[in-house]
Amino acid sequence: MVVHLQTKLTLSPITKNIPTSHHRPSLLRLRVTCSVTTTTKTHSNRETEKLVVVNPPLSNDQTLQSTWSHRFWVAAGCTTVFASLLKSITGGFASHLWLEPALAGFGGYILADLGSGVYHWATDNYGNESTPVVGIHIEDSKGHHKWPWTITRRQFANNLHFLARGVTFTVLPLDLAFNDPVVHGFVSTFAFCVLFCPQFHAWAHGTKSKLPRLVVAFQDMGLLVSRTHHVNHHRASYNNNYCVVSGVWNKVLDESNFFEALEMVLYLQLGVRPRSWAGPNSEWSEETVISNNNN
Ligand SMILES: [Zn+2]
Ligand SMILES: [Zn+2]
Repeated sequence: MVVHLQTKLTLSPITKNIPTSHHRPSLLRLRVTCSVTTTTKTHSNRETEKLVVVNPPLSNDQTLQSTWSHRFWVAAGCTTVFASLLKSITGGFASHLWLEPALAGFGGYILADLGSGVYHWATDNYGNESTPVVGIHIEDSKGHHKWPWTITRRQFANNLHFLARGVTFTVLPLDLAFNDPVVHGFVSTFAFCVLFCPQFHAWAHGTKSKLPRLVVAFQDMGLLVSRTHHVNHHRASYNNNYCVVSGVWNKVLDESNFFEALEMVLYLQLGVRPRSWAGPNSEWSEETVISNNNN
């Protein structure tokens, strides 16, 4: 959005309505930040300076809305997971196997939490928007750390579509290639948790009184990642609590300094520094990013 000389036009009516004694600089600064949303430039055709202000997305922001493409991928992912679950149940019936597929399913649930932590750690710390395949998710992660509450305003399919696409491309070939109920016991649970972990993550940012009771009960029982644990991930030293399915792996990973050790190995081998080393002054801790670009 380009706003021509918006600063002058907006400030005038605001200051007119405020008594002189209340002309506090802090109030005026707040108004300016809200009104100048993206870009200002003069009417001149000459090269001019642009002020770019990046504000948190509003609830009605397009980037938080679901599109038909998002819904398609979530539906496709759920279909492949359901097909895998069906194969596990029908295969179990046919071969009178119950315990093994159930145990494999439990293993899928436990390992999905570990997988979510490793993936979350990797995208929080390495790469950028031009990274193949996951670049868009890395940018989303950066946005999440600047404005964590926006995840609760993302529409369902918007939040899930990226991992749903990955699940579709992974589980569909497995559905076609295998009929083993034990394999599908593992695959269906693992893939279900991966597909829905952005939703579990969003619930971890939710307000207790506004969440469904069952979700709060599951969070309190430790079946889903807890709100109180996940909040630590967003504190200044955020290099912890990466797992967002049940969170069962967080304690062991954090107490063993697993990710710190992995970061050190990568640094020594490849010379790449993780973003977490930048600490609380990193770009993620900024509320607003203002930069000057020459057009
Ligand atoms: Zn994170
Ligand atoms: Zn979060």
